[in-house]
Amino acid sequence: MPKIALVCFDVDNTLFKEKPGLEAQIFNAMYAVAAKKLDIPRALLKDEYNKLYEEFESHSRVFKELGLPPELAKEIYDGVDIAHYLDKDPELVNLFAHVREKRIPYSIYTNSKVTSTLRKLGKLGLGEYVKLTEQEGGFAFVLTGEAFPKAIGSTGFDKVIENAGVSPEQILFVGDRKKVDILPAREKGMMTAHVWQPGPRVVSEDRMHYTLPDVYSVKAIVDSLELVVRTSAR
Ligand SMILES: [Mg+2]
Repeated sequence: MPKIALVCFDVDNTLFKEKPGLEAQIFNAMYAVAAKKLDIPRALLKDEYNKLYEEFESHSRVFKELGLPPELAKEIYDGVDIAHYLDKDPELVNLFAHVREKRIPYSIYTNSKVTSTLRKLGKLGLGEYVKLTEQEGGFAFVLTGEAFPKAIGSTGFDKVIENAGVSPEQILFVGDRKKVDILPAREKGMMTAHVWQPGPRVVSEDRMHYTLPDVYSVKAIVDSLELVVRTSAR
């Protein structure tokens, strides 16, 4: 049976499901800046942009493909007040309470900046769980956009492993995007949970990879894994 020493969550669209109005607002903000920078009409850019997004599932990657600095997309994303669209989610709070009760260390890895990230987590009702250190009863570690000023691709996952201080196959990475979250995490040898996917729960034969209808299902997954008891504090 696979063992678990850490569960690491992506934040955006993983801990909450994006409301339709919010998604439109994010895309509109991206179109507006990209069209202006490239000096082409927005209507022309939109189709190309959407096609690229479908392929890369990442605004930073689309910006790079368009010859624009990928970090600009991160800035725009961070400028959208996503927290404004979020409400307290008791089931999510339940999941974190459960993980903490089981004494499984947990962390977050996101491209968003720390201030907006904490605001989102607070709005979701996770105030009690968003302490920045494990000693305070919160995250084992927090990796936010500040840690990746230029990084694009899978280098961030090396930092996750480095910070976790455990072997990758004992880390469960929870994310919403196949190309950006799940595949790179798998490549690094981590366990993965791909959340908010249509259809029933799917478990890989080696029980390392999960496709889940929602993020709450992570609760049952961590219950099914054997917890690695840490012998020394990091
Ligand atoms: Mg995400």
